[in-house]
Amino acid sequence: MTADAVDAVVVGAGPAGAAAALELARAGAEVVLLERGPFPGSKNVYGGVVYGRVLDEVLPRWWEEVPVQRWVTRRSTMMMTPTGSVSVDVRSTAWGEAPHNGMTAYRADFDGWLADKAVAAGAELITSTTATGLLRDAGGAITGVRTDRGELPARLVVACDGVNSFLAKEAGLLPRTDPEHLTLGVKETLALPRPVLEERFGLRGDEGVDIEMIGCTGDIPGGGFLYTNRETVGLGVVLSLPGLTASGRRPEEVVADLRRHPSIAPYVRGAEVVEHSAHLIPEGGYRTMPPLAADGLLIAGDAASMCLAAGLWLEGVNFAIGSGLAAGRAAAEAIGGGDTSRRGLAGYRARLADSFVLADHRRLRGAPGFVLSDRVQRAYPGLVCDLAQEVFTVRNPEPKPGLLRSLRRGARRRGIGLPRLAADAWRALRIFG
Ligand SMILES: Cc1cc2nc3c(=O)[nH]c(=O)nc-3n(C[C@H](O)[C@H](O)[C@H](O)COP(=O)(O)OP(=O)(O)OC[C@H]3O[C@@H](n4cnc5c(N)ncnc54)[C@H](O)[C@@H]3O)c2cc1C
Repeated sequence: MTADAVDAVVVGAGPAGAAAALELARAGAEVVLLERGPFPGSKNVYGGVVYGRVLDEVLPRWWEEVPVQRWVTRRSTMMMTPTGSVSVDVRSTAWGEAPHNGMTAYRADFDGWLADKAVAAGAELITSTTATGLLRDAGGAITGVRTDRGELPARLVVACDGVNSFLAKEAGLLPRTDPEHLTLGVKETLALPRPVLEERFGLRGDEGVDIEMIGCTGDIPGGGFLYTNRETVGLGVVLSLPGLTASGRRPEEVVADLRRHPSIAPYVRGAEVVEHSAHLIPEGGYRTMPPLAADGLLIAGDAASMCLAAGLWLEGVNFAIGSGLAAGRAAAEAIGGGDTSRRGLAGYRARLADSFVLADHRRLRGAPGFVLSDRVQRAYPGLVCDLAQEVFTVRNPEPKPGLLRSLRRGARRRGIGLPRLAADAWRALRIFG
């Protein structure tokens, strides 16, 4: 380990850490990027889609070299009951062309690629090394990290160590972990021969599919996802922790149920499970974000609860990169100005407030509670499926019942009064509108 203090140590070579190290190194700072895994991305779990436009400004034409599996050209939102589903299915050839929209990528490839950019800019990457604590000066300001291989003094620490950040807790920024605001993401990677996968999903070349699901997790508030890679499918669920505990079910049972669902089974029939993975997600959003700086420390990405889990969207990597870039820039300014106190680091929050990171979180601050509510989880997917089935069932010689009558009947069957339905529609408009 280095004995002399470096300008900055960034802990965690996920997307937030690599982005922070990239900006610090480009600004001429001496920066160490510390990763506990044997290589960046080795321990990292996610569903599978990265929205890369956040990179436009820092890595122009990134799409020409990013390690992509597939470009997402079909995005479906599926509302489900145990026996049926209704989908809003969006296909766009424009998304198949640069600068693209979403891409599927393996985290070991993507995180490694982004960390290489930081290294090329001058950052030093140290792997297989875990930060085990913070160093402080006599006044309590943070002056580096302790690791399992010795001390690493630095003028500033950027904690990008992911959800439940141990460093943010030690710094007193994350006072306690509230399971209410965490979900557990569980994923199976299923292998299919490429021609079979492309035929089942109607894909050509490097086109890909992203299916987001609601109503597929039984009694447990949450959701599901399916993403196509070149020769694998990522299939998984996101489950509220208190809901999972109360249900007494094992998360892998919930994924197995999803694999057998009549709307999913035809896609994955005969596929071989090649990997199981699980990871926590900070779902609380804007209202649960911790303070973002302490004397000598900034936090970014999942460590600062910046994952956007808002029903229609599950986006963490782009928010991690956006906050990492902002942290790197603010850190470089503070180091240059000789003031790495909390005050000197105030530029970080200001930068985030000017960017999509806080703008999206602020706008969607009511979404997590709404999306995980009982009616949105079960009653409405059921109502939508019932209604669609009713509308498309031809009962001649009976005449067609009319949409409003079907809606009223369906709502009554699901125990939802029309005033409640109208109030929720208004609430959804206010949250997402
Ligand atoms: C099942 C699931 C599905 C998801 N799907 C998507 C999706 O499709 N799209 C999307 O955009 N987001 C998705 N997310 C969210 C996304 O994965 C996260 O928001 C994102 O990875 C956050 O990036 P990060 O850099 O902040 O943290 P991480 O990616 O968690 O990286 C943290 C890094 O820090 C390292 N580290 C931790 N502690 C230490 C330590 N003490 N010392 C040294 N190194 C340390 C870790 O090894 C890791 O490399 C999903 C998450 C889950 C769990």
